Amino acid sequence: MQVIKTPAEMQMWSRSQGMTGLKIGLVPTMGFLHEGHLSLVRQARELCDAVVVSIFVNPIQFGEGEDFDQYPRDLSRDFALLEKEGADVAFAPEVRDMYPEKMSTFVEITSMDDKLCGRSRPGHFRGVATVVSKLFNICQPQMGFFGQKDAQQAIIIEKMVRDLNFPLEIVVGEIIREADGLAMSSRNVYLSPADRKNAVVLYQSLLKAKDLVADGVNRPAEIIKAITDLINQTPGAVIDYVEILSGRDLSEIEEIKGKVLLALAVKFGNTRLIDNLLLEV
Ligand code: AMP
Repeated sequence: MQVIKTPAEMQMWSRSQGMTGLKIGLVPTMGFLHEGHLSLVRQARELCDAVVVSIFVNPIQFGEGEDFDQYPRDLSRDFALLEKEGADVAFAPEVRDMYPEKMSTFVEITSMDDKLCGRSRPGHFRGVATVVSKLFNICQPQMGFFGQKDAQQAIIIEKMVRDLNFPLEIVVGEIIREADGLAMSSRNVYLSPADRKNAVVLYQSLLKAKDLVADGVNRPAEIIKAITDLINQTPGAVIDYVEILSGRDLSEIEEIKGKVLLALAVKFGNTRLIDNLLLEV
């Protein structure tokens, strides 16, 4: 596996691969890799000729007072994991090389960036869409791999690709979970042992919602109330949001019907966890 550090070198590599007709798959990550990331790498391996995994903690998607500085980083461990998975390139640029001058150009998604995580993290999706656009231009993939774990991000990236005619296909991989159901996340290492145990309530909430829908409950408010009660009974859990929206475009829905997204964000101390369930009803 090759480690590439600069956008210029990465772009040169991608161009040479592209000329030989090889299909490049890109898995964008912020590193501190776990099985969730690696499942995307495996899918890319299966569907593409060459797999590029980017590792970049992107400052412009973090707000004031968020965890940019504390975000866990371990590049040598990440490289070893990627080597084992058979990735072709780990692209791990420095901030100064990704943003060598003050940015004047940003990609903004105007219809869905004020919902869910966008409401609690203003500017977050502008930062994500901008860096993902830069990564698409640098790595020139024919396929981009994203996780359902970040459901809103996946919907926004798919919309951006359609709106701006990026010449690639987006693949969304399922949520990979710990044995007790907690969705894997680099941020799980922040949790105290007690919070780690209690954090399983996010997954339990999704299962409860699934059961309620299976029992014929079709009013979003009723499901939200049941989940809110469950989370509020959990020590240390503070709800950021519990919402049920259209799984297509995050619009409000009156009834559980069609493609429906149930999305949760819950804080334990300073650690904000997200999880979701996409239902086809
Ligand atoms: P991150 O490093 O957290 O920015 O995540 C990089 C990519 O991995 C994103 O597309 C995430 O949605 C995806 N991802 C993160 N956690 C998981 C998980 N538990 N299961 C599946 N995909 C995930």
